[in-house]
Amino acid sequence: MSNPKLEIKNVTKVFAGNKKGPNVLALDQTNLTIMPNEFITILGPSGCGKSTLLRIVAGLEEQTTGDVYLDGQELFGPSSNRGMVFQAYSLFPWLTVEENIQFGLKTKENSASERKDIVKKYIELVRLEGFEKHYPKQLSGGMQQRVAIARALANDPEILLLDEPFGALDNQTRTLMQELLLEIWEKSHKTILFITHDVEESIYLANRVVVMTSRPGKIKADIPIELEHPRPYSIKVEPKFLAYKEQLTELIREESLKAMMEVK
Ligand code: ADP
Ligand code: MG
Repeated sequence: MSNPKLEIKNVTKVFAGNKKGPNVLALDQTNLTIMPNEFITILGPSGCGKSTLLRIVAGLEEQTTGDVYLDGQELFGPSSNRGMVFQAYSLFPWLTVEENIQFGLKTKENSASERKDIVKKYIELVRLEGFEKHYPKQLSGGMQQRVAIARALANDPEILLLDEPFGALDNQTRTLMQELLLEIWEKSHKTILFITHDVEESIYLANRVVVMTSRPGKIKADIPIELEHPRPYSIKVEPKFLAYKEQLTELIREESLKAMMEVK
C-alpha cells in the first residue's frame, strides 16, 4: 500500500467580511485523501468553494484552519511541485507557445538543450507541432488550454490541479480536450485533481468523483468510477456510464437547489 499523494485535513476557509457584507464561510471541515496516480474530479455547484479549495492546495490562498500535505510534507505557499491550469487567460500574451511552456523551467536545473527537449516533448504530447512560434491570441481557446496544460506538465509536478479548464470551450472542443487529457493521464500517470460543475465530464475523466455540498462546501459523496481504460468517448452512452450520471445528477441537483434558494 503506497502513501497518499495529497491529504487535505479539516480545511476550513472564512473570507473576512467588509462594511457591505458579513464573513463568508467558503469551506467547512473539508477532508480528502488522494493516492498516487489517481484522477479525481471534484463536482460541485457554482459558488460552493471548489476554486477556493484548489487555490488552497496550490498555495495561492491560505486556509483559515486545517492542513494540506503533499507526499507527507505540509504545504506552505506555492511551489513547482504543483502545476495549475485555470479556466482561461493564464498564458502570457507576449510570449510564444514554446516560450510559454518553457517559462517555468529552471535555468539552473536544466541546460538550454534540455529545456528545448522538454518543450518539444510537451508540444508533441498536446499535439501543437507547427504552432511553436505562435502567440496565444493566434490560437483557438482549445489550443490555448493545451498550451496551459503543457506548461503545467513541463515542470514535472507531483500533482496537476485543474480548475474548470474546459469550461469556456464549445462542446465539441471540450469533448476532444477530455479525450486528450485522459490520454495524457494514461501515458504520464500523473496524479490529477480536476474541478468541474459538469456531471458527464466528472465521470468520464475520473477514477473517483468527489461531490461537494453547496456553500459552505464540504465533501458530500465520494464515488468510485469503475469504468475501464482506455475510455473511448462512446462510453458516455453506455448503461453503466448513464447509471453514474443519474446518481450524480441527483446528488448535484439537491445542492444546486439549496444554493438557488439561499438568500444572497
Ligand atoms: P466555486 O469555484 O465553487 O464556484 P469559489 O471557491 O470561487 O466557488 O467561492 C466560494 C465562495 O467564497 C463564494 O461564495 C465566493 O463568493 C466566496 N469567495 C471566493 N473568493 C473570495 C474572496 N477573495 N473574498 C471573499 N469571498 C470570496
Ligand atoms: Mg470556481
